[in-house]
Amino acid sequence: MTATVFDDVVGQEHAIEVLTAAVAASRGDADVPSAAMTHAWLFTGPPGSGRSVAARAFAAALECEYGGCGQCAHCRTVLAATHADVRTVTPDGLTISVREMRDVVQLAARRPSTGRFQIVLIEDADRLTEGASNALLKAVEEPPPHTVFLLCAPSTHPDDVSVTIRSRCRVLALRTPSVASIAEVLVRRDGIDPDMAHWAASVSAGHVGRARRLARDEEARDQRRRILAVPGALRTVADVFAEADDLLATADGEAATMSGRRDTVELDELKTALGAGGTGKGAVGAARGTAGVVKELERRQKSRATRTKRDVLDRALVDLSGFYRDVIARSLGSTAPLMNPDVEHEVDVAASRLGSVGALQRLDAVLACREAIELNVKPQIAVEAMMMTLFAGPVEPGPAG
Ligand SMILES: [Zn+2]
Repeated sequence: MTATVFDDVVGQEHAIEVLTAAVAASRGDADVPSAAMTHAWLFTGPPGSGRSVAARAFAAALECEYGGCGQCAHCRTVLAATHADVRTVTPDGLTISVREMRDVVQLAARRPSTGRFQIVLIEDADRLTEGASNALLKAVEEPPPHTVFLLCAPSTHPDDVSVTIRSRCRVLALRTPSVASIAEVLVRRDGIDPDMAHWAASVSAGHVGRARRLARDEEARDQRRRILAVPGALRTVADVFAEADDLLATADGEAATMSGRRDTVELDELKTALGAGGTGKGAVGAARGTAGVVKELERRQKSRATRTKRDVLDRALVDLSGFYRDVIARSLGSTAPLMNPDVEHEVDVAASRLGSVGALQRLDAVLACREAIELNVKPQIAVEAMMMTLFAGPVEPGPAG
């Protein structure tokens, strides 16, 4: 049988083989050793390689009576994140709290209600707090018989996942999908024009979601164009501050649009659920008790907005680091395909002006900026410092020395 539930897991033939075997083992298939199935899995891979997509497809295949048909109610509800026995843990803010993890672990210990397993899918296991990590460890060490934990993280580095949790999990390392496999899924699944799909895949550095967004969204393409124009636009010190302001304002604007849409819907839903708008005596009493619930939602939304703003800014910095990687490759005479083939001319100009040393220092500045923001340095300060190095860092010595 062809397991269509894995169709959207792009360019991961090896992983799909392992997961399909695990599903067969979980069903007692005599051809597959039962050891192929484990109750704790760690999906690793670079951002955009499809860690959580693969984990979710696996969850669907485990619940499905046909091993992942993609059509039945189990498959469809797992993929839509509405299945009663599959819980997704996504950090709203910067971390996953111990309270949230304890609740989830407790629910996961119950018998499955409709499916074959209770499944907990933790999308950013690298954002577990230490307390949350400990709460999870206990469950992973002695998993209830019907419970499966699926963790997703960038790598098995101890900074991402604690050594003890890692040692309890089977690790499944995803690869960076190829340009061809990304383009193929954009055409087949999203109905995107083949030329556009190929272009988007070629500039997305193996990030499927990024490629999809670039292919579909004119604004995303425009933002990428603008950030890649930054290196060429820094001619005076005034440009340094103007470009920094521009980058921060764009990130803020985009994050506000993304958060605003979601926040309003959530708040309306909550207020409807709480019966706001009623005028009777009961409604007034209820309104007093619900103020705290609304406040809690607003607190979570604020924390999530901070995260969104950082993510948007980080994506721009990833684009910028790709540019300087290309410049380094070119100035070292590499003929490998560029990460940004559509700005080849700008890359060549920068390569002859900066040389490999100048480009490397600028790449370091971009990476340092990402790290500083991750460590809670005020974005404005980090971005201005980076822009200053991009502008005033060393350049290739001319023929005169
Ligand atoms: Zn199914």
